[in-house]
Order: sequence, then structure tokens, then C-alpha cells
Amino acid sequence: MSDATLPPPPDPGEKLPADAAEAVLAEAATAVDGLADPEAFAPLDHPRRLLLVHAHPDDETIGTGATMAKYAAQHALVTLVTCTLGEEGEVLVPELEHLAADREDGLGQHRIGELAAACEALGVRDHRFLGGPGRWRDSGMMDTPANARPDTFWQAPFDEAVRELVAVVREIRPQVVITYDDNGGYGHPDHIQAHRVATAAFDAAGDPSYEPGVGEPWQASKLYHTAFPKSVLQAGIDQLKASGETNFFGADSAEDLPIGTPDDQVTTEVDARDWLEAKTAAMRAHKTQIEVDGPFFALSNNIGQRAFGVEYFVLARGERGPGAGPQGREDDLFAGLD
Ligand SMILES: [Zn+2]
Repeated sequence: MSDATLPPPPDPGEKLPADAAEAVLAEAATAVDGLADPEAFAPLDHPRRLLLVHAHPDDETIGTGATMAKYAAQHALVTLVTCTLGEEGEVLVPELEHLAADREDGLGQHRIGELAAACEALGVRDHRFLGGPGRWRDSGMMDTPANARPDTFWQAPFDEAVRELVAVVREIRPQVVITYDDNGGYGHPDHIQAHRVATAAFDAAGDPSYEPGVGEPWQASKLYHTAFPKSVLQAGIDQLKASGETNFFGADSAEDLPIGTPDDQVTTEVDARDWLEAKTAAMRAHKTQIEVDGPFFALSNNIGQRAFGVEYFVLARGERGPGAGPQGREDDLFAGLD
């Protein structure tokens, strides 16, 4: 191509030809779209930032999936930290049984993919493994050989695990952190350890004397524990009974079960029923773990959309915000903070 084919440079005072003006407008529109795109924002540009600390891939979806999807859709930064790869999980898909810990021990790697797919379904882009993928292994249930392995999260050097999480807290500066209660919800060692590490990191991250080399101090405002109210559990048992199911963990009453939170302790209720579809899709993504037509899903369906799309929390640290929800509960994790 010769210079002769190039148009002469425009006179600064000259009006742009129509097609050139259109091109400029299109370019400007694209730039504006970019600004409106939450992904174009740096993490700290999100006014609301939520950090969830979970033990295994699938816990985020079962316990908090609808909440995560709701806040992500509302352009909060939602960061998920998962502490293990869930290597010791049971494999519910027969053709993938060879991945199990007592066979090829390849389940952890497989679950990285399941978690990524689940996060995509939830609209959550920032998910990490504590210390990097595979740093700590699923601890299995208490008093099993898996639990005694030195590479498990249960046996992890506590200070190192806390430091890893403090680095994340100081990087993304969440106002709200979510983890389990001190029994890990139901006593699994990794859930208990996640609770301990998250609680210690919540406090340490704001302490200027703690690891000054690991980011600027940041004190999150609220720490929540996930909760499953006894009344919701009871409603599930009643529904199962009504449908002819007789064996619900061998219990007749929610009071007899070692799980569930007394209703009067529940401080916060997030109604995320509009994100039920995202939660269900994320459950399907955890194919090796959740039998979508199995008892867990049946239970969820039996309790109905309410139990499944409404998620409950107990405020453990920080100031309770105004309660616009049922029974004066907070209906927003950020209540009182904006
Ligand atoms: Zn778990």
C-alpha cells in the first residue's frame, strides 16, 4: 500500500465525516460499557466486599450459595476461600469412583473443576484455596486414619494457616466475613478448623502489630456464622414424615439432632430465593458430591423453596444492624454498614 491511498490528515477545525464520528461514539460507548462492567473494577472499587471461608468444595453452595449469588449479582465483591480440596469425599458417581481417596486419590483435582463450575453458576469470580490448591488436605472424619495424616488441614500449623488468610483479608478488605460456628456446623474437623482460622484471621488482620509485612491492616466489621434454624430443620422432618419417610437421621425431632441453631440465636436471614436457580445449578456442578435426585435434594425440595433459597446467619463479631427481616432479623449482611 502506498502513501497515496492514505486520506489526508484532518484539519483540526474540520467536522469529522459522519462515519468517523460514529466510530468515535462507538468507541466511547464501549469505554463506558467497560466502566459499567463490574469486572472492570479493581477489587477495592467494589463498595461492598464479602469474604466466605469454607472447608471443602460444595460447602459454599450448600450453605451459602444463594447468598453468594445474590450479592455477586448486586455487584458486591464476593471472595470464596476454600481450605481443602475435599479429597476424602465420597464419590456418588459410579464411573468416577476410581478417583476416591482409597483408590487413585484423584478426587481433589477433580473437585477443583467442580468448584470452578459451581462458582461460575453463582456468578462468583474470585475463588481461591487457602495457601494455594492442595496446600492442605481434607481431614476426613474425626478419629479416622485420614484425620491423622500430617498434611491435613486439621494438622496444619495454625499460625501459617492464619497468616495465609490474613493476607487475603488485607488484600480484599472485606466488611463482612462468613464462616462456621465453633462446632463447624456439624463437627467435621475441617469445618471446625475453618472456624478457628477464620476467627483468628478476622482479629489478626486488623492488628497493626500482626505480621506488618503481610499487607496493610484491615479490620472487617462483621463476622457471621452460618446457621440452620431448628424450626427449619423441624419443618423438613415433618415434611419427610408426611411423605412417608421414616428415617431422618434416626430422629423424630430437630431438638434431638446435634445440628441446627436455636431460632432465637439467628440474627440474620438473607432472602435469596430469586437466586435459587443459580444455587441449584451450582449443586449440579458438584456432581461427585451431591446427588441431585438423592435424599439431600429431596429434603431441600420437601422443605420447599423457602428453606433452600433463604439462608441464615448468626452475627458473631461486630454490631448488629437494623432488622427489616422476619422477627426483627437483619435481612442484609451489610445492614448498618453502608
Ligand atoms: Zn464440608
